[in-house]
Order: sequence, then structure tokens, then C-alpha cells
Amino acid sequence: MALLTKAIRGTQDLLPAESYKQQYVEGVMLDAAKRFGFREIRTPVFEHTELFQRSVGDTTDVVQKEMYTFTDKGDRSITLRPEGTAGAVRAFLEHGLHNEPLPVKVCYFTSCYRYEKPQAGRLREFHQFGVECLGAAEPEADAEVIALAKDVFDTLEVKGLKLFINSIGCPQCRAKYQEALREYFESHREELCETCQERLRRNPMRILDCKSPVCSEIASKAPVVLDYICDDCRDHFEKVKKYLEAMNIEYEIDPTIVRGLDYYTRTVFEFVSQDIGAQGTVCGGGRYDGLVEELGGPHIPSLGFAMGIERLMLLLKSQQTPMPEDERCDIFIAAADDEAKLCAVKLASDIRGDGLTALYDVTGRSIKAQMKYANKLNARYTVVIGSREIENGEAALKDMDTGESITVKLDTFGEDFMGISVQQAVKGLGDGIEFADGFDLNSLFTGGNK
Ligand code: ATP
Ligand code: MG
Repeated sequence: MALLTKAIRGTQDLLPAESYKQQYVEGVMLDAAKRFGFREIRTPVFEHTELFQRSVGDTTDVVQKEMYTFTDKGDRSITLRPEGTAGAVRAFLEHGLHNEPLPVKVCYFTSCYRYEKPQAGRLREFHQFGVECLGAAEPEADAEVIALAKDVFDTLEVKGLKLFINSIGCPQCRAKYQEALREYFESHREELCETCQERLRRNPMRILDCKSPVCSEIASKAPVVLDYICDDCRDHFEKVKKYLEAMNIEYEIDPTIVRGLDYYTRTVFEFVSQDIGAQGTVCGGGRYDGLVEELGGPHIPSLGFAMGIERLMLLLKSQQTPMPEDERCDIFIAAADDEAKLCAVKLASDIRGDGLTALYDVTGRSIKAQMKYANKLNARYTVVIGSREIENGEAALKDMDTGESITVKLDTFGEDFMGISVQQAVKGLGDGIEFADGFDLNSLFTGGNK
């Protein structure tokens, strides 16, 4: 039975008391994406396994160890997406978006699935905010994508994030580098872990990414990719740096960043925090100039990034970043009997129709318990309706913050209540505004305080 009430290891629930914070963060992301010209794309949670093998790369940890792969009832090999880029590029090709004016700029919120060892900031189901800029070879695009990530962090007032950048060159210059790496690691072959011995044969650059202490120690003295990149790649990288400087975006060059996915070329980058322990990378991205071609399309140089939403939420929490308050219930309508309940239902319907939050009891509570509940909901206003109110056609509307009450007419209640709450809001806003002589703010409202 315990299984029924226990979520699967490495997954987590987002509860109402927290979800509004994440909605705010996602709103900031979407708004930044919009200002940079990225529009949302949604793709399926599962794809053909081959798509990830091809794009993420057969020698990566993600493909070798972490994918959730299964055979469906039609005998196809299916994989739950471990990342968002492959699906976005697949959709880009499938729907012929590459025939549209380039670049095509998309963003997404996705759940991702990786069979990893669960720990703080490392889950088996996690979420990413990602962007992809498809069809932009120039370094201006690299600077733009990095600036977008930075914009999100700045708007959220994240502190202490460091931007690390590197260039891992193009396939041509990388061939020379791989050779140098192979030669270097060959001399340490016996000390490397078993996986890395295999990597040495198939993709020596992956060894740089190995988390085992022995391998990372050896890797720390390996040849550095920046010493091997060709003139074109170097020139590209220099321009990216210049653009970042022009935007006052601070960066550090870290020649050890190679990223965990095979499709990267040229610029790679990470935003890293020291505040949330070992899982400090909240955003990773870079160029993947060969990926579209690898998946059967034309040569379309592209780039993107992905931010880990759970990691970012952890970071915001650890920094006690100010978040907007959860929205309040505008009015709670307490009702004493059946006739009053009918009235409450109608009033709430009017008020909700006007765009405000109106609630009433649906559990058969006593009036006293309804008021207690209204308090718990942090309702801004309450009104109690009973047989006397219905008979007189009037009720007392109580401002829960000040404790003051005013009398309102039930037949124009919906309308009047809008007037009162809008007036309240405008008054709040109007505090710092100077009105022309003789201007009466209250003249704007027909309903309201009588
Ligand atoms: P790491 O080196 O931490 O494993 P990665 O290189 O595998 O990260 P990417 O594939 O580039 O990460 O994914 C982009 C972002 O998604 C990461 O920077 C991180 O914020 C987040 N992320 C990756 N894996 C996980 C996970 N298992 N749980 C939570 N967030 C994750
Ligand atoms: Mg990883």
C-alpha cells in the first residue's frame, strides 16, 4: 500500500503553496524570451530512441546510462526525452520550418528524464526552460543567447552566478585536438576508469567530463582545446567575447568545459552558482552547428541553452530571493442558509465574471467556521448573507485588513464590489501620483462607498 502514496525515487511534486513561485519564475523566462524574439514550441515527451542516440551521442553518459527507454506495444524503441534540443530540432525539420526566414527562434518548458543518482539538484524527472536559435552562424547569435539567459537571472535578482565560456572548435580543428588528447590519455590508460578506457577509443573528449576523481585529476593536465582551434573558430570566439563585453556581461574562460552532449561545436557556456553545492550549474548551452545535418536536414548552424528549473528554484530559495506574494482571494461570501447560498452563488458568479476572485463555502460549514476559513484564505473582503440581509436587500461588506464595514445593496452588489476593489487598487497606485487641481479621484467611481 505504501507504494500508492509514495512518488517514484528522483521525482518530486510541486504543491500549491510553492507553485505560484514557479509560475512567477516561468513568467519571467517567457517574458525574456519574448523580448529576445523567441516563441514557444511544445513537443512530445517521448521520441524514437534513435533520435537521442544520434543527437546527444552514443558515447555520452546520457545515452549510455541515463535514458528511460522502453519498447512499446507496437515493438518500437521509445525514449522519454532526456533533454529538449533533439525534439525541437526534429520538429523544426519535420514541419519544414527551415524553409522559413532564418533564424527560427523557439523556447520551451519541458520535463526531462534521466536515470541518475538522485540528490539535491539532481532528479530523475526534472524540468528545463530552453531556447534554440536555429539558423544563425554568426557570433552575434551566441552573444544574444547568452544575454537572454543573463537577462532571466538579472530579472530574478540571482546573485553570485558566474558565466564560464569556452570554444570546443569545429569538427576539423577538433580532429587534431582529439588526436592530442588520445596521445595524452594513452600514456595514462591503465589509471583510467573502465568507461574512460572505452571513451579513449571512441571519443577521448568525453574523458574530460568524467566525474571520477582519478580521471578528473588526469584530465586536469590534458591538452587544452583552445590551443588547438582553427583561425575561423578563434575569430568567432573572439567576437563572442567582444559582444559580451559590449553588453557588460562578465565571463570567465574555462577551457575544461566540454559539455555532456556530443552535438556541441564552437561556443559552449555554463552559468554556475557556488551556493547550491555540487549541482551548481543552473544553465548550460552552446552551439551545435552540425546537429541539423546529423538528423538528415541541411547544414543549419544553430545554438541554444537549457536552464534547470528545480536547480534555479533551489538557488532562489537559498538566497531568499524576494518573490511576489501569492494572489489573495478578493472576497469570501459567507451564507447562513439555503436561500443565502443561492444568493452567494449568484454574487460570486457576477464577481468572477468581472475578473476577481470570489469564494464561498462548499463543505457545509457553520457561519462561524466559514468566517474562520475566510481568514485562513486571507480574503481581502468578506460579506455575510442571512435571512435578514436578504429581507433588507443589504449586507455589510467587511474590509478584513482594516476591520471597517460598509453597507452594500445586494441587487447591485457585483457591480458595486468591482467599484470598491478597483477604487482601492487605484488609491494604492495613486499614492505617488499628483493629480491636477480639483481632480476628484472618487468621481471615477459610480458604485462604491455610500
Ligand atoms: P550536470 O553536469 O549537472 O549533470 P548536464 O551537463 O548533464 O548537467 P545539461 O544536459 O546541459 O546538463 O542540462 C541543462 C541543465 O539542466 C543543467 O545545467 C541543469 O541545470 C539541469 N539538469 C541536468 N540534469 C539534471 C538533473 N538530473 N536534475 C535536475 N536538473 C538537471
Ligand atoms: Mg548530467
